[in-house]
Amino acid sequence: MCYFVYKCSICKREYRRDEVRYLCPVCSIEYKIGMPLKGVLTVEFDYNHIKRRFSKKNPDFSLFSAVEKRYFPNFPVGNTPLIKSSYISRLLGVENILIKYDGLNPTGSLKDRASFLVVAEANRIKEEKIVCASTGNAASALAGVCASAKKKAIIFVPKTAPKAKLVQIILYGAEIILVDGTYDDAFAMSLRFTERRGGLNRNTAYHPLTIEGKKTVSLEIFNQMNFSVPDVVIVPVGDGVIISGVYKGFYDLKRAGLIKKMPILISVQAKTSNAINRFIRSNTYSDYKNPKTIADSISVSIPSNAYMAKMAVENTEGLTVDVSDNEILKAQKILASTTGIFAEPAASASLAGAIKLKNELKKYKKILLLITGNGLKDIDAPLKNIKLPLPVAKDWI
Ligand SMILES: *Cc1c(COP(=O)(O)O)cnc(C)c1O
Ligand SMILES: [Zn+2]
Repeated sequence: MCYFVYKCSICKREYRRDEVRYLCPVCSIEYKIGMPLKGVLTVEFDYNHIKRRFSKKNPDFSLFSAVEKRYFPNFPVGNTPLIKSSYISRLLGVENILIKYDGLNPTGSLKDRASFLVVAEANRIKEEKIVCASTGNAASALAGVCASAKKKAIIFVPKTAPKAKLVQIILYGAEIILVDGTYDDAFAMSLRFTERRGGLNRNTAYHPLTIEGKKTVSLEIFNQMNFSVPDVVIVPVGDGVIISGVYKGFYDLKRAGLIKKMPILISVQAKTSNAINRFIRSNTYSDYKNPKTIADSISVSIPSNAYMAKMAVENTEGLTVDVSDNEILKAQKILASTTGIFAEPAASASLAGAIKLKNELKKYKKILLLITGNGLKDIDAPLKNIKLPLPVAKDWI
């Protein structure tokens, strides 16, 4: 049994598990397709129950799950490595740089965590069809998990998505609808699709369990650091759901009495797609018209989880930083050549942000870079800066 209620992130109304599915019915009256979501739900556990049951000797993290284990797909999501980098520690002048490499998930990105839990929920409610809009990674994650769970995935992606992500989606056997438009257009279309034709919608933040799935990365970090947490976690941000999930994981640990202080969260966005960071800095929201960055996974005009992401940064006294495509590509090269970690451009933004904030970060001991996706997802982006060598004659040596 899972002991929780859904709680609206805006009005704080509470709902029983099967009473609601997506947004808060009251706050979402104000929501119209084409703006950041209103009334995103969070999962509020019975933290006293967790306190009574959780033991460090034999830690059972399923106490923090909003879907029972028996519904979990048979797909090896999570348990990604936590790696120390002495080179990057020195580069930043910090004692300890830790890298959580989530590009090693089965479909190559952190999105597997969200898709995994939503498919578990689909198992529970006996829904066979799952619909999603994505810049590419959420879609390939959903397609992969659905393949393993024998469910039908219907996916809306912009036609500009990197080829590797499209190939994944197709090989996993999903139905793909390539949208002649942006990610934001795909998001709107997928909502209309489920309204008219049914199926479970896995859109990021729209389904509250996407946040719960993504939070497992924080629970793992806590476990891998011997029941402690870093001082700072640096997160690449597009729709603002990963950073909200990271926040939620630490929030749960704090509410369960397992940590005293939450890590400071740093939101890294591409300069040319920074609606959330501008919202945090100025307190007024506006879309980023025509985002254009090589970091496709964080290229968003209307970030669906803008309100919650802002709260995650503010509640941890966090920071924002915007990085250019050049800074991202430089960071990608540094990561690859000094740690062996090949991160996709959006994921490399974590390091780009850390380099930019070097002075502010000096005072912290343990800084974690969240590497959200695998470099093999998009080789065209770095190829722009790489000269492949010319072949040599076979008598060269
Ligand atoms: C989705 C994604 C992000 C950003 O996550 P949001 O929830 O959209 O903020 C960052 N990096 C990668 C690799 C992603 O796939
Ligand atoms: Zn509400």
